[in-house]
Amino acid sequence: MMKLTVKTQKREELCDITSEVQKVVDGSGMSDGICYVYIPHTTAAVAVQEGDDSAVGRDIMAHLRRLFPRDAQYEHNDGNMDAHLKAILVGNAATVLIDKGKLCLGTWQSVFLCEFDGPRTREVWVKVRAG
Ligand code: ZN
Repeated sequence: MMKLTVKTQKREELCDITSEVQKVVDGSGMSDGICYVYIPHTTAAVAVQEGDDSAVGRDIMAHLRRLFPRDAQYEHNDGNMDAHLKAILVGNAATVLIDKGKLCLGTWQSVFLCEFDGPRTREVWVKVRAG
């Protein structure tokens, strides 16, 4: 397993980590297989989403904020319950197929770390398997 370190810059942002994940695949020498991307945090998530138009990411964040307002009433009282809810909805892992040494992503797809309670230093764990 390889551990990527990502320093996020804002409380909420989508960080495109596709090239970093591809570097792990490159380093593995894997031609055909599966790449697992896992985030070991409870207020950040991993998603495969549109990487071409950054407005998509802004809209996703805006609508998640509407769905889970930061100032709603929560029992968890460290001020980031909205981030936990966003993270559970988006999910903590992604799986991407590898073909001829490249991540098999659709034309518009990228792999994102979704930060919901930054800025922080986050880890992303990447594992490559034959298959
Ligand atoms: Zn919390």
